[in-house]
This record gives sequence, C-alpha cells and structure tokens, in this order.
Amino acid sequence: MPTVDRQPAVSMFSSLANETRLTILDVLADASSGLSFSQLYDAVPIDDTGNFNYHLTQLTGSFVRKQDGIYKLTPGGTEIVGALVAGTFDADLSINPIPTDWECLQCDGHFTVRCVDKRAQLRCDTCGSGSIFSVPPNAVESISKEDLPTTLIQWYRTQMQHLRAGFCHRCSSQTDRRLVEGVDPDADTPTPSVVRFDCRCCGASASMSGATLVTFHPVVEGFFRQHGLETNRQHPTQVWRALDSSAVQTVSENPLEVEVHFSMGEETVSAVITATGCVEDVRRVGTT
Ligand SMILES: [Zn+2]
Ligand SMILES: [Zn+2]
Repeated sequence: MPTVDRQPAVSMFSSLANETRLTILDVLADASSGLSFSQLYDAVPIDDTGNFNYHLTQLTGSFVRKQDGIYKLTPGGTEIVGALVAGTFDADLSINPIPTDWECLQCDGHFTVRCVDKRAQLRCDTCGSGSIFSVPPNAVESISKEDLPTTLIQWYRTQMQHLRAGFCHRCSSQTDRRLVEGVDPDADTPTPSVVRFDCRCCGASASMSGATLVTFHPVVEGFFRQHGLETNRQHPTQVWRALDSSAVQTVSENPLEVEVHFSMGEETVSAVITATGCVEDVRRVGTT
C-alpha cells in the first residue's frame, strides 16, 4: 500500500511567503531538465548569492529537489506554480450573465451562464435547476462570450469524470458514493435521482443526478456520439432533449436502485445505478 508522509502545512506555506522564492519556482517551472545553482542564480533577479542560497534552501525538500547538482520542482512545487498561474489564490472571476438557447427540462425557462466567486452556474432562469461547479479563472480567461458556455461544459465534463472515477473534486482523495434519492413516479413534480459523493479526507461532498452519471459513462457517450450528440459541447439536459425518449425509474426500493434508458430511433442504451452509486449492466439494444 502506498504511504503518504505529510509536512506541517503552516511551515510549508510560510516558506512560500517571499517574492524571490516564488520567482525561483516560476523559473524552475520553465526548465523541465532542471537548472544548476549558477543557472538558477543567473535567472533570478537577486544580487546576493548568500541571500539567494537562503531562499533556495527554504524551498528545498517540499517544493524543490536537488539531485546531482541540478535543481528541479517537486510535484508539490509544480502544483503550487500551477495554482498560481490558474489564479486559484489571487484571481477573482466574474462574468456578466450570458443567456443561452438551452431549454430547461423542468419548465419553460432557459439556461443562463453565470460565474460567481469562481463558481460557474449553468441554471434555468425560472426554476433554478441545472449545475453549479468550481472553475479555475484561467480556464475561461480570454474565452469569448459566444464560446464560454461550451468551454464551461468541457470543464464541467472533466469535473464529472473526476468524480465518476472516484476522486474528490476538491482534494483528489478517494470518495464514498451512494445513491441517495430514487425517482418517485407519483410525485406532482418528479425530481431527479441523486448520487452523492463524500470525500474520505476533506469533508467535501458533491452530487449529480443518476441520468448525468450514466450520461458520462463511455458506452453511453459512444451511443450519443453515434447519434451526433456531443456531451462535451452541451449541457446533459440538452443531449436528453434531443433524444426520442429518456427515462429514469426506481426499480428497487431496498436496496435502492434506479434504471436509466436513453433511446434514439430503434436503439436504446440502458444502465442500472446501484445503491452504492455504481453504474452497472450498461446495455445497448438494437445496435446495427
Ligand atoms: Zn426550469
Ligand atoms: Zn476531498
């Protein structure tokens, strides 16, 4: 079993609180083969070798490693540089609302794209259904208003795939998942089934509908693509709207299980979501 040694977070972050040290990380990020002490010293605007050496020593171990006289970023150093470039710590993104022609499945409303506090919202103006997820500012920086909804969907899909694969959206630890809501066929306003993901480490939780979980299964995505429907270009609700039919039904109460069907022409793809939130028994019927 892999072992994970943790360093105290306070000392690690305090070792970053200096402009010269951040510059060292930035310079090393551009040098995939690493740099010698003198190459690194020449690339960083500082005149005092002793002072430079002090700052480099503060980074060595956690963020920079030295091997055979060559300095390189550690994986942790690479993550820090990535987060700085992404604007994770210092950028605040806001976007004026962008109306779309994506029609709501629950009512007559349309989706509007918003970005608030680095959280993207793709939601119906009228009933509020839709999706909310985090997006790093640089992932959408310089994207035109016309292209932004598609770019956000591409990011959303990567987030859903990350969750689907079992990793926390916040810290990438393992998650526990379960199907927490089925579909009540007698409800006046049927609500979607819900699969919930709880992180084993950081306490974050996330949820998605059973239909969304099945939509991003590779066999189901293949089915959609063969019918000209791209799950990386439009919100899942718009893919479902384009189908001849889609249905989600509870097939067992104890243990809770739901079945999802998507049909186009003579073809149907179906899958079962188990109580443990797994997608099983994925079948394509009527395939030529
Ligand atoms: Zn709506
Ligand atoms: Zn987590």
